[in-house]
Amino acid sequence: MYSNGMQKKTIVIIGAGVAGLSAGIYAEQHGLHAILLEKNPSVGGMCTGWYRKGYYLDGCIHWLTGTKEGTLLHRMWKNLGAIDKQEDIMYLDSWGTYEYQGQKVTMWRDLDRAEREWKELSPVDSKMIHKFFNMVRDFAKVELPLDLPIPMMSLPRLLKLGLNVLSVWPSYLLSMRISCEQFAAKFKNPAIRFALTKCQVGDGNLFSMIYSYSTVVIGDGGVPRGGSKPMVERMKDKFIALGGTLKLNANVESVIIRDDAARGVKLNNGQVIEGDAVVSCLDTNYTLKKLLRDQYRFPAFERRFKKPELHTSPSCVYLCFSVKNDKNLPVPYSFDVEPFDVGGISINHLTIRSYSYDDTFTRNDRTVLTVLIDQSNKEYPFWKRLSKDRSQYLKYKNFVAEQVMNRIKEHLPSMDDIELLDVSTPYTFNHYVNSSNGVYMSFTFTPWASMFAHSGKLKGLKDFYLSGQWLQGPGGLPIAMTQGKFAIQRICKKEKLSFVFEPLRKSKKA
Ligand SMILES: Cc1cc2nc3c(=O)[nH]c(=O)nc-3n(C[C@H](O)[C@H](O)[C@H](O)COP(=O)(O)OP(=O)(O)OC[C@H]3O[C@@H](n4cnc5c(N)ncnc54)[C@H](O)[C@@H]3O)c2cc1C
Repeated sequence: MYSNGMQKKTIVIIGAGVAGLSAGIYAEQHGLHAILLEKNPSVGGMCTGWYRKGYYLDGCIHWLTGTKEGTLLHRMWKNLGAIDKQEDIMYLDSWGTYEYQGQKVTMWRDLDRAEREWKELSPVDSKMIHKFFNMVRDFAKVELPLDLPIPMMSLPRLLKLGLNVLSVWPSYLLSMRISCEQFAAKFKNPAIRFALTKCQVGDGNLFSMIYSYSTVVIGDGGVPRGGSKPMVERMKDKFIALGGTLKLNANVESVIIRDDAARGVKLNNGQVIEGDAVVSCLDTNYTLKKLLRDQYRFPAFERRFKKPELHTSPSCVYLCFSVKNDKNLPVPYSFDVEPFDVGGISINHLTIRSYSYDDTFTRNDRTVLTVLIDQSNKEYPFWKRLSKDRSQYLKYKNFVAEQVMNRIKEHLPSMDDIELLDVSTPYTFNHYVNSSNGVYMSFTFTPWASMFAHSGKLKGLKDFYLSGQWLQGPGGLPIAMTQGKFAIQRICKKEKLSFVFEPLRKSKKA
């Protein structure tokens, strides 16, 4: 209830992934009441973890952008309860070690050390190595403008942003229109070429690779202790403590529309949940096709979505194992292997990630080790077909696991007692969170596909807001979180409720 006696507006939020949790918390902090609906029995969506054979497995965070104190993103994660104590953020020494035919290259967080080692390994590449590390240093200076949607930014804020981008403009231009493969081809040393092409999943351009590396370098890409699940549980607790209503096992079937405005949702058990506005924080294609019955168009999104060959989004086969805990193993660690086929793609390297850095994942003398094998929206038809025959699907998962285990044992004979714990596929992601093509992030930045951000409003439908990682490439946790916030900022603007960036105090109108 507002001080003027008016009832708080109720916002129905579909999907309790990171975007939905963020929207829910920001709504409650700004004089709105949020009802958060989640189809699964727990929150988090793709940001999750689970148990197998007594081991705790993490299904998401390899690095979380926004772990550096003082950054905009860090303040937001703190506000949401996602980051609790700074001592609980762990920083790995490197962004990975890459071994090709016996030669090792490490992307150390210490850039001077990395540059020195790379030059020692390949003096002939010195000039290009220097160029590469200078670009990483450049991007380390840029902070993503995720506090406000760009159209809502003040002129001074926009000018500051422009100057920030201008200061790294040459590096930006150089890296946007080139793929990692094209850039790597400029180096003579094969291990450096291997590192530059394998350090990032999918078809991402040089910009997205360097940007990710730079966040890790400046300490803005750490991992919260315990990983993904405890982080979303903290967000859930914050949401509930603020007065939000959470309904689990609430599978939304459709959006209720009256007089061209969204007025609530209907669940698949027939229950109706009324509200003054609806925010959809799940897969955009699923929202348009299923929840809105294909009645509204979103051309900027659909153009991309219908052309997977041009607009790729990453997916994977995600394998979890237990192995003897070896603290000397680099994390993560990539090496070339005898090629094998997964979903029609020839896999010629493995990146293994041992969780030895966090004792949440260890049991006695063993720890969890994961392998993420690249797939994308392009391979989804294969997985969809395969999933129709359960026994073939399970057989294929075991086949992939066998191929991977054999290659790990071949490369690292000390891992001869590696044990399979679990295998997730693009079909798992589709099934679990309704991700249309089984992908786990939005559209990748490629040399041929530009950046994309959308307001989340659909023509002809009032009080309905799209949100989640699909509204801004390339997706991921920071984008999901900020898009959840942006939806509430847009609602506050419409309802004339003031939005305070860090809601230490309540909205003036509440
Ligand atoms: C293996 C893996 C590794 C990753 N690593 C990283 C990483 O290191 N760093 C990073 O930033 N990101 C990473 N990601 C990506 C990250 O997990 C996603 O970008 C992010 O979680 C997306 O959040 P979201 O809220 O937009 O969507 P989602 O997580 O998909 O949330 C949507 C929610 O809506 C629910 N839902 C769907 N349909 C309905 C319905 N009809 N009714 C009710 N609820 C519904 C779903 O169950 C889900 O909870 C990784 C993902 C995977 C799978």
